[in-house]
Amino acid sequence: MVVVSGRRPAAARRVFLCLVAAAGLALPSRAQVLAGTVLPASQPLHFVAFGDFGRRGKPYEAQVAAAIARLNQTDPIQLGLTLGDNFYECGVHDVHDPDFHDLWEVFYGPLHIPFYPTFGNHDYGEGEGACTLRHGDPQAEIDYSRLSETWRMPAAYYSFNAGPVQFFALDTVKWNLTERAWLEALLKQPLPPGIVWRVVYGHHPIHSSGRHHIDPRVKQLQRELLPLLASHGVTFYAAGHDHHLEHLRAQGLDLFIAGGGGDSVRPVHHHDRQSLAAVSSHGFLDVSATAQRIEVRLLDTDLKPLEAQPWTKSR
Ligand SMILES: [Zn+2]
Repeated sequence: MVVVSGRRPAAARRVFLCLVAAAGLALPSRAQVLAGTVLPASQPLHFVAFGDFGRRGKPYEAQVAAAIARLNQTDPIQLGLTLGDNFYECGVHDVHDPDFHDLWEVFYGPLHIPFYPTFGNHDYGEGEGACTLRHGDPQAEIDYSRLSETWRMPAAYYSFNAGPVQFFALDTVKWNLTERAWLEALLKQPLPPGIVWRVVYGHHPIHSSGRHHIDPRVKQLQRELLPLLASHGVTFYAAGHDHHLEHLRAQGLDLFIAGGGGDSVRPVHHHDRQSLAAVSSHGFLDVSATAQRIEVRLLDTDLKPLEAQPWTKSR
């Protein structure tokens, strides 16, 4: 396994990534990367996030994408995040897999903005029994970044800066102490110049009112990730995996679930004590950030917000 050091100087990292791109080389999927600044820190940032979407035979992904496109017309979006389970049932097989066109480019190519994806369990081919014989290759999602205007996944977990926000994209499917140490080392560093907010995102939620609330990985993240985020000034954590929209707060950290990106939604049975609001609807996370203020809403496909007032934080 080749690991791109998180401590490599920024200029050297950029040169390395350029060389990788120029040579057409694949980064191993477990590599960790600092992808640098992708949009100037001086500019306000409007971004969206959603997970659990690339599912054939259902109309919901088109509905969510159409809602995001409508929002983009009135309030232009500069960037997107995916919260994993990008391709059901078993991930993609190679960079020429038709799912990239049919389940990504068709819906999100027209926005012409960069998206920074994360892996979900289905991207690793951890479908429910269906993937035993022919599961996907998560490395293909990383390699596809060379072929797409909108799909930018430099590694399985990575960090980048855009506008006044420092982003940390986690791989919660293969979450381990190495990844945790990488994240902790970065969070202990001072904020980069012009950066005000820190957003961490991954596939598995830390708390949830959905059916996955008792998953061992969710419990593990409560022990290993939540205290780290809560004690290092992270603005909020966003996840998918459960197919609904929810806002929670634990240890003073705001948590958002936006797993209504395109697969069927599920009922919200269990009411987590940390939950502030939840609905079994398709939709996405909508975030506007300036150097002074960040504003977060969960919107359904009618652009109706989950909560009457957006969650905001000012400095
Ligand atoms: Zn999942």
